Amino acid sequence: MVKLSQKGSNYQSYSDLISQITEGQVDSLILNPSRREVYVIFSNGNKSIIPVFPNDQNLLRVAQLTRTPLTVRDIKQEQAIAGITGNLALLTIVIIGVTFLLKKSASVANRTLGFGRSQERIKPEGDIKVFFDDVAGLSSASEELKEIVCFLRKPEKLISLGARIPKGILLIGPPGTGKTLLAKAISCEAEVPFFSIAASEFVELFVGVGASRVRDLFRKAKEKAPCIIFIDEIDAVGRQRGSGLGGGNDEREQTLNQLLTEMDGFAENSGVILLAATNRPDVLDSALTRPGRFDRSIYLSLPDRKARKAILAVHARSKPLSLKVSLDDWATKTPGFSGAELANLLNEAAIVTARTNQLNIEDNHIERALERISMGIASTPLQDSSQKRLIAYHEIGHALAATFTPLADKIDKVSLLPREGGIGGYTRFWPDEEVMDSGLISKGRIFAKIIVALGGRAAESIVFGNSEVTQGASSDFEHVTYLAREMVTKFGFSSLGPQSTSSNNNEVFLGRDLVNKRSKVSEATNKKIDKEIRKIAFEAFFKVESLLKSKRALMDKLVAVLLEEEIIESKRFYELIEDLPNNHAL
Ligand code: ATP
Repeated sequence: MVKLSQKGSNYQSYSDLISQITEGQVDSLILNPSRREVYVIFSNGNKSIIPVFPNDQNLLRVAQLTRTPLTVRDIKQEQAIAGITGNLALLTIVIIGVTFLLKKSASVANRTLGFGRSQERIKPEGDIKVFFDDVAGLSSASEELKEIVCFLRKPEKLISLGARIPKGILLIGPPGTGKTLLAKAISCEAEVPFFSIAASEFVELFVGVGASRVRDLFRKAKEKAPCIIFIDEIDAVGRQRGSGLGGGNDEREQTLNQLLTEMDGFAENSGVILLAATNRPDVLDSALTRPGRFDRSIYLSLPDRKARKAILAVHARSKPLSLKVSLDDWATKTPGFSGAELANLLNEAAIVTARTNQLNIEDNHIERALERISMGIASTPLQDSSQKRLIAYHEIGHALAATFTPLADKIDKVSLLPREGGIGGYTRFWPDEEVMDSGLISKGRIFAKIIVALGGRAAESIVFGNSEVTQGASSDFEHVTYLAREMVTKFGFSSLGPQSTSSNNNEVFLGRDLVNKRSKVSEATNKKIDKEIRKIAFEAFFKVESLLKSKRALMDKLVAVLLEEEIIESKRFYELIEDLPNNHAL
C-alpha cells in the first residue's frame, strides 16, 4: 500500500485533476479500480489521491491523449498474495505447535515407560576420593569393613578358604555419623563402582514402580560386579510389614518384598555387596535383617571426645588452623556433636575468618562459629534496662549454682549478648571429661544438673520477687522435667525403685501398638511418676534457692561485672569468685 507523505500532499477535485493532466502538470497516475481512486504524482513532486468513477473511461482517454503514464494496479491479486502469505504463516504456526505437543507427550510417555528404571547415581571406580583415613573416630567399624575391601579386591583369597562374604551390611547410627562416608570409603579403597540411591526414591505414586526399580538396580549392579550398592535411609522401604492400621499390601511392602527376593537371588560371592544405612533399626522388618540378607550390622554412635578430636583433625587438614588452636579443647566443648556437625563447625569458623580478612583460623573464630551453631545468630545488644538486669541475675544464678554445687560442671562462659530466637543471655558449661570419656553419669551428677538448671529462676525470684519472675526459664524447666523423668522412669533413681517404666515411642508402629499392645505402665504408676518428678524438681529448687540467698552479696557483685563487661569467660569468672573472701568455689 502506498503511504502518503504529509509534506507536499495536495488534495484535488476530479475536474481539477482532468484539467491538470491536460495542462501537463501530472507526471504519472496509478489507478486502483477496486478502490475507485487514482494516485497522482505531479510534475512538481506533489502527490495526491483522488476518487474516480467506476470504470472511468474519461480518465483513461485524457491520460492517453496527453501521453501521461498510467498504471493500473491489480489490488485483488495483491490481496490474494497477502492472504496466501497469511495462511502459510498460520499453517507454519499450527505445524510447529503440533510438533511441540507431540514431542512433549512423547517425553511424558517415555517417562511413564521409564518409571520402572532405578534413579541411582553411579560413580565409576576411581571417581570417589574418600579413604578410610578420611573417616575418623570409627576405627572398629573401619577395621570390620576392611575385609570387605579385601574381598572386593582379591575374592579368590577368601573363596579358596570356603568363606562366604556378607551379602548385605547394615550401617546403623544417628544422622551425620559417617554412614555414607564409610560406604564411599569402601568403594574407593576397593576401587569398584558405587551405586547409591535413597530408599525413598524407590517408592512412587504407582504400585509396582518401586519393585521394578529394585529389579533394575540389581540388574545394573550385577553387570558391573564387583561393585557396591548403597541404599540410604533403608527404613523408608524396609519397615516391618503389616504395621499400621491400613493393612499391608501397599507399594512399600511390594518394594520390600522385591528387595528381599533380589537379595536372595544374587549368588553368594557374586561380587555385589549391598550396604544400607538407617537410624531406625528398630523399625526394620526382621526378614531383612536375618543372616543371609543383611548378615552384619555395624553401629556408629555419636563420637566421644577422642573421636571428636580425630574428626576435627581430619577436617582441619584442608584449613589453615593457627598453631595456638587446641583441638582437644574444642573436642571437649562439643559433646553430642556428630561428625557432620563438627565438619560444619570448622567450615563456619573458616567463613568467620574470611569475613574478618584474616589468614589463619584462631580460637575466637571457632568460638564464634560454635555460638552461631548452638545459640543462633547474634542480635543487637540489649540496652541498659530492668530486663537486662533480670537476665544478668538469671545467668549468674545458673553460674553460682554450678560453682557451689558438688558434682556440677565447671563454667565455660557467661554471656549477656542476645541471640536471634529470643535468647537474652546464656551460661555455657565445660562438661566433665571423666563422664564424657566413660559415658556413665551418676545420680548425683544428674541431680546437680537439675539444681543448676533451676538456678536462673531461683535468682529471679530472690531478687525481683515472685510476681516479677519471667517465662525466660521455660526451656530450663523442660530440661529439668526431661532429666527428672529419665531418673524416675529409666535409671531407677527414685523411690519407684529399680524398674523401667519408660515407653518407647515408635510412632511408625502406632497402628500395631494400638491393636496389639497395652501400655506397660498403669494409671497408678503414672501418677507416682509425676509425683516423683515433682518431688525431685522441688527439692532441687529449694536447695538452689537457699544456696543463692546465702550468696546474695556475691551474686550482686557478679551481676554488676556482667552488666559492665557483657561476657565473663571461665578464667575471669573463677578469679572474680576467688577474689572475694569466703566464697571459694567447690
Ligand atoms: P545421614 O544418616 O543423615 O545420611 P550419614 O551418617 O550418612 O548421615 P555422612 O553423610 O556420612 O553421614 O556424613 C556427613 C558429613 O559429615 C561427611 O561428609 C563428613 O564431612 C562428616 N563426617 C561424618 N562423620 C565423619 C567421620 N567419622 N569422620 C570424618 N568426617 C565425618
